[in-house]
Amino acid sequence: MGTDCLFCRIVAGEIPATIVRETATTLAFRDIDPKAPTHVLVIPKEHYADVATLAQGDPGLAGELLGTAAVVAEEEGLTVDGFRLMFNTGPYGGQEVFHVHAHLLGGAPLGPMLCR
Ligand code: 5GP
Ligand code: ZN
Repeated sequence: MGTDCLFCRIVAGEIPATIVRETATTLAFRDIDPKAPTHVLVIPKEHYADVATLAQGDPGLAGELLGTAAVVAEEEGLTVDGFRLMFNTGPYGGQEVFHVHAHLLGGAPLGPMLCR
């Protein structure tokens, strides 16, 4: 995908990010505009537009993404009180960056799942 994808550019090191974990296939970094005390984005290094495309195109990589999210949740101390793992998808889902990313949110009660 390359230069016109923000998260591909973070993977390439062209845009700085606060990286909290890196594996051969995934990257976890802090959201620039955190919506909770802990807000980490977990992405595959390879470009997939959204979670459905990833899950269908490379289920193993989708599993590795979840595995990285779980390790980061543990490292960030979120596993006792709990956390939320979220994939905004498409316009109704409010997705703004079209490189699949899991939002890992925690550190305080997160309130209801949806605003109405
Ligand atoms: P989405 O709305 O696509 O589910 O989430 C995109 C997320 O990316 C938002 O939470 C936003 O704050 C975050 N974001 C946007 N630009 C940057 C950036 O340059 N660096 C980092 N670390 N996060 C970003
Ligand atoms: Zn990308």
